[in-house]
Amino acid sequence: MREKLVAGNWKMHGSLAENKALLDALVPQLASLKGASCAVCVPYPYLFQAQQALQGANVAWGAQNLSQHEKGAFTGEVSASMLVDFGCKYALVGHSERRALYGEDDATVAAKFVAAQKAGLTPILCVGETLAEREGNITEQVVARQLDAVLAVAGVAGLAKSVVAYEPVWAIGTGKTASPEQAQAVHAFIRAKVAEASADVAAGLVIQYGGSVKAANAAQLFSMPDIDGGLIGGAALSAEEFVAICRAA
Ligand code: PGA
Repeated sequence: MREKLVAGNWKMHGSLAENKALLDALVPQLASLKGASCAVCVPYPYLFQAQQALQGANVAWGAQNLSQHEKGAFTGEVSASMLVDFGCKYALVGHSERRALYGEDDATVAAKFVAAQKAGLTPILCVGETLAEREGNITEQVVARQLDAVLAVAGVAGLAKSVVAYEPVWAIGTGKTASPEQAQAVHAFIRAKVAEASADVAAGLVIQYGGSVKAANAAQLFSMPDIDGGLIGGAALSAEEFVAICRAA
């Protein structure tokens, strides 16, 4: 009943020329993708390019961040409605790099989640523990806290119109992937936690895995019962890798 979703997170990579080559390769190769959907989350300045290149294609696009504010004196910020102007379907919220490097706390992430939804975007809410938290056996507590912050303001009805990405921080960009069993355990925990509020929402919630997903390990991860696709960083910059990952979903 859940359709898998593979989303690329380009992070701060790309140029007009590099993006053109990548998008031109993705469009035909993903045109006949079956049983899964796919998207790319690109840097803000390239949203127009993504919109032009992906209009009518089988690849959706989105942003990697947004402001929690609607408009106003917020120099350097980008609002949800601006993302909608450029045809975005998705916006990442609470990526661990935003949390760690830009001081986004749970409340800020929750506010961004609400702002995205209010404008009609589908937020992809990123959650996950650091290595120290995993080693301290508080993975579930951390993920529960991150989810609770969003549930508190958006409610379970809000979660129903979102995607959750479980991304263990220790697996992001490190080449260290969570094993399918490690990831599955946390995905099942997230689904069970949402089920406490609504069994229906939990059953329909797309929960992606992110953290060093590659063509070589995607199929195994995506075969787990609660892993509904992936959020792909480094491997999303290669058309060959990204297409293979989408096909594995
Ligand atoms: P990675 O990044 O695939 O390069 O580990 C994933 C992410 O940060 O979303």
